[in-house]
Amino acid sequence: MSDNVSSGSESPTRAFTVETDATATYWRKGPQDTLPPPDMMGPYMRNHPVPVEAVDGRKAWIIGSGIAGLAAAFYMIRDGRMKGEDITILDTMDIAGGSLDGAGNAEEGYIVRGGREMNWNYDNFWDLFQDVPALELPAGFSVLDEYRQVNDNDPNYSKSRLMHQQGKIRDFATLGLSKSHQWELIRLLLRRKEDLDDITIEAYFSESFFETNFWYLWRSMFAFENWQSLLEMKLYMHRFLDAIDGMADMSTLVFPKYNQYDSFVVPWHVCCGTRA
Ligand SMILES: Cc1cc2nc3c(=O)[nH]c(=O)nc-3n(C[C@H](O)[C@H](O)[C@H](O)COP(=O)(O)OP(=O)(O)OC[C@H]3O[C@@H](n4cnc5c(N)ncnc54)[C@H](O)[C@@H]3O)c2cc1C
Repeated sequence: MSDNVSSGSESPTRAFTVETDATATYWRKGPQDTLPPPDMMGPYMRNHPVPVEAVDGRKAWIIGSGIAGLAAAFYMIRDGRMKGEDITILDTMDIAGGSLDGAGNAEEGYIVRGGREMNWNYDNFWDLFQDVPALELPAGFSVLDEYRQVNDNDPNYSKSRLMHQQGKIRDFATLGLSKSHQWELIRLLLRRKEDLDDITIEAYFSESFFETNFWYLWRSMFAFENWQSLLEMKLYMHRFLDAIDGMADMSTLVFPKYNQYDSFVVPWHVCCGTRA
């Protein structure tokens, strides 16, 4: 379903189509839907779909050049067989990438707001970047290949995860979770998203949970404050709980070669050639 929206009194002759917001409702399997569900990728999605009809001459306008906009354009080109030059990405900023930022050079220094962890279970992300050529490797190697080479040859590791008592390295040999803390976590994983509106992390967990090694590791890794959203924490747990094994020494983390802008946005741009 789509709404036809007139572009307003300034340009009365043009009307354009606004596609339905795919994230507005939960995806439920219906008889007409193919499998797998849209957020389950993996090798099953590595098929080549039959080209849709009449894609030639169609134009797409995407608002926002963050990873969401870049991915939308990428799938229109790869799977929808649209030409990059028929896609225009609009952004209020004069640089693409949105939150995938990073600026500067080797002489004057770099500015990056934060290091980005791109886990191995980012199915859509890696599906996309296994088809984007790496800029500093021979032809045939992808951004995913580059990422693997960097992390396989130079694994992340930290001798000291956190210091306390004026410079002593804190011992993180155990997570310090009692049975009841573990139940609190498991119950949270089982709760429905719809039931967690307006609940803070501190309103849900017992007071002693906030003194556990688990919480120190978790909150410092993902920048959580005690007063923040319990639902957000639950969503992070579903995404990152598998990383718990190497959390005490950061060996669970994988990182790009450069900042996210130079490692992902620039190769994407070279590959896709959309208009901006
Ligand atoms: C410091 C920091 C650390 C992070 N760490 C991680 C991490 O370790 N791992 C991880 O997976 N994620 C991390 N994230 C989150 C991740 O970077 C973001 O979720 C993701 O990049 C968001 O992409 P997006 O395309 O949805 O939105 P954005 O990147 O926000 O892009 C939206 C774009 O739309 C543009 N825009 C907005 N409104 C308009 C408009 N009306 N007209 C035109 N343009 C508009 C904006 O200028 C922007 O460029 C981190 C984020 C930050 C800020």
